[in-house]
Amino acid sequence: MEKLKKLYEGKAKKIYSTEDDDKIVVEYKDDATAFDGQKKGQITEKGKFNAEISTIFFELLEEHGIPTHLIKQLNEVDVLVKKLEIIPVEVVMRNIAAGSLAERLGLEEGTELDQPVLEFYYKDDDLGDPMINEYHIQTEELAKEEELEVIKELAFEINEVLVEFLTDKDIDLVDFKLEFGVDVTDGKIYLGDEISPDTCRFWDSKTKKKLDKDRFRRDLGEVENAYQEILKRLKS
Ligand code: UDP
Repeated sequence: MEKLKKLYEGKAKKIYSTEDDDKIVVEYKDDATAFDGQKKGQITEKGKFNAEISTIFFELLEEHGIPTHLIKQLNEVDVLVKKLEIIPVEVVMRNIAAGSLAERLGLEEGTELDQPVLEFYYKDDDLGDPMINEYHIQTEELAKEEELEVIKELAFEINEVLVEFLTDKDIDLVDFKLEFGVDVTDGKIYLGDEISPDTCRFWDSKTKKKLDKDRFRRDLGEVENAYQEILKRLKS
């Protein structure tokens, strides 16, 4: 399937139309941003690593019965996916305190949470993606009540599948962000966007070394190596 017209360019991906109205191509870029786009840079070969990493995760989730937008990876950086109407709510799942949760609750980074914690953020760059709750989602009609129920259930299931898979690879899944969308042709909810070191916190289980975008955010060095290491472990 050929890329036709560029429909949208985001911070880390470009989206293209195809000859089929229901399918789009996601092209993963090497560009990296952090802190609401204030920090900008490039991570060598990130596009290639993330396209493959995300495809591996989405295939794993499909095998476990999670509906996702994945159709197939086309080449190193291009992935063919089902076109979705993205619900403007980012779902963050957390197993270990880090980042904004550690700050909000005054927890030391690395504190294990007694149970997975789910959070919602309003996907709106102008507002800086504020944290919201289910009442905000309902009053702003960002998602229907029954859609939200499906999303919550899927998010916990996805967390279970990923934790089990990653534990075996000596990777702690600290937290991650998910986006869901509706396929207008069947009205069903599918997992969209990506699952990669850009959108997850991965720590080496033994050394607790960060193997994700925090290396870029916090100028820790060895950024490319971290993405490459994650891909290597997923394929092992
Ligand atoms: N995250 C993301 N996109 C965002 C915000 C967060 O992919 O716009 C991911 C982030 O990589 C981490 C998790 O969601 O894995 C939780 O992020 P947090 O709220 O701690 O924010 P941060 O500290 O990254 O600003």
